[in-house]
Amino acid sequence: MTTPTTTCKILFASSEAYPLIKTGGLGDVSGALPSALAALGQEIRLVLPAYREVLEQKGRIKKIARMDLPLGRVTLLEHLLPGSRVKVWLVDFPPYFDRPGNPYHGANGLPWPDNAERFALFCQAVHALALDQAGVGWKPDLVHCNDWQTGLVPALLSRHGERPATLFTIHNLAYQGLFPESTFGVLDLPWSFWSSEALEFWGQLSFLKGGVVFADRINTVSPTYAREIQTPQFGCGLDGLLRHRSDRLTGILNGIDRGWNPARDPALTKNYSLRNPEGKSANKRALQRELGLPPSAGTPLLAFVGRLVEQKGIDLLLEILPEITELPAQMVFLGSGERHYEESLRRMARLHPERISVRTGFDEPLAHRIEAGADIFVMPSRFEPCGLNQMYSLRYGTPPVVHRVGGLADTVVDTTPATLRNGTATGVVFDEASGSALLEAVKRAVLLYGEQKRYWRPMQRHGMAQDFSWKSSAERYLELYRETLGGRISPD
Ligand code: ADP
Repeated sequence: MTTPTTTCKILFASSEAYPLIKTGGLGDVSGALPSALAALGQEIRLVLPAYREVLEQKGRIKKIARMDLPLGRVTLLEHLLPGSRVKVWLVDFPPYFDRPGNPYHGANGLPWPDNAERFALFCQAVHALALDQAGVGWKPDLVHCNDWQTGLVPALLSRHGERPATLFTIHNLAYQGLFPESTFGVLDLPWSFWSSEALEFWGQLSFLKGGVVFADRINTVSPTYAREIQTPQFGCGLDGLLRHRSDRLTGILNGIDRGWNPARDPALTKNYSLRNPEGKSANKRALQRELGLPPSAGTPLLAFVGRLVEQKGIDLLLEILPEITELPAQMVFLGSGERHYEESLRRMARLHPERISVRTGFDEPLAHRIEAGADIFVMPSRFEPCGLNQMYSLRYGTPPVVHRVGGLADTVVDTTPATLRNGTATGVVFDEASGSALLEAVKRAVLLYGEQKRYWRPMQRHGMAQDFSWKSSAERYLELYRETLGGRISPD
């Protein structure tokens, strides 16, 4: 892969970035990709809202500018992304961002009622920084926007002749930033934006459309998801528009964080690697003990880690759980989400304590121990823009059973005689989002597991040898930046 020889100045705008603030995959990407780009010699600034949780963290924060924006007067703070040399610019506006807890919703689980104003102000700040209107003396070549919270940036920038190029990344099309029509007037946006060819979406204001309509380039987090969102089944009502822009739409897989490495992972009972895989069995024993399952080396241990929501196919797993208890297998669950799923899982664990163990809540070290201690990872997502867990499980020698969608289809190779022969088989892939197809796939994985030498170990080895480094993803992003800079859209 060739990379641009000249340095590119990139303003990377996101509503979350690990380890400063994270609610999901977007936070992982925004924490890792800027550092990986900086390591490739690019000049990058990450811009985030100055949430309370971010300001409370250690490290020197200095004021570098003030900006008068249509929605308020903000202060621009500068910080460093912990563990890196990436400069982070924080848009400080206490009435919107100095509040406890989650960036998007209150303690009651409902979206903050002023989310439209909060993220419109953030977009105004990014727009001003992109044009160097804050007087900090730094002008980006390209603004990389992520998800609906930054969707207004490409729209606002499209009105300038002299402007940086724009890239908009869709991490999950299901979240669109939709608000009632009445909100539009409050945000001080140009009236020309109230049109179905701009931000209007069936009578509502859509932040996401700002990115999809106006960005010079669009991408998603896997090549398959980039194709899927152009179909009615996965397009969330935007498939027509995405087809219209298909010549500017691509997919780039996310990488995984360096912390997910069984050779060095401090959460594990025993470290292991592709070359020295023996340590994995000690992790299985320890996991069975920790989760109260009978220790049995030969019984395949299945695992699910993830949000307990329909997207993740947890309903399909629950449907076949009675049959799974009849297999010579055990299964562990770690997840949080909709209460009825948590309760159904707990009920099954009470009925089959020798077979099923359930932990609810968010527990990162346990997620690591499960990836290491389990034999088979089950990820039957109905749709999956990229997905991280299947990549972790490949890395940890825990072949996954996945539904052939999005990033799952792009990262897991089904085990067939041909893929075993050519050394590409890494898991079990099924085609239909149904309980019966999932059950068949799980049974196939259990059979393959039974043939350790012939099938299972080669599958484990192939999976562990995959390159899911951020460096590879960052090189692809650089290539896309270069294309974007070369193929700018001129303003009307
Ligand atoms: P999504 O971003 O849609 O939730 P991904 O597979 O892309 O799904 O990423 C999920 C991330 O969150 C992974 O790092 C996974 O290990 C982690 N995770 C999800 N649920 C839990 C949980 N209950 N405890 C610990 N980690 C979890």
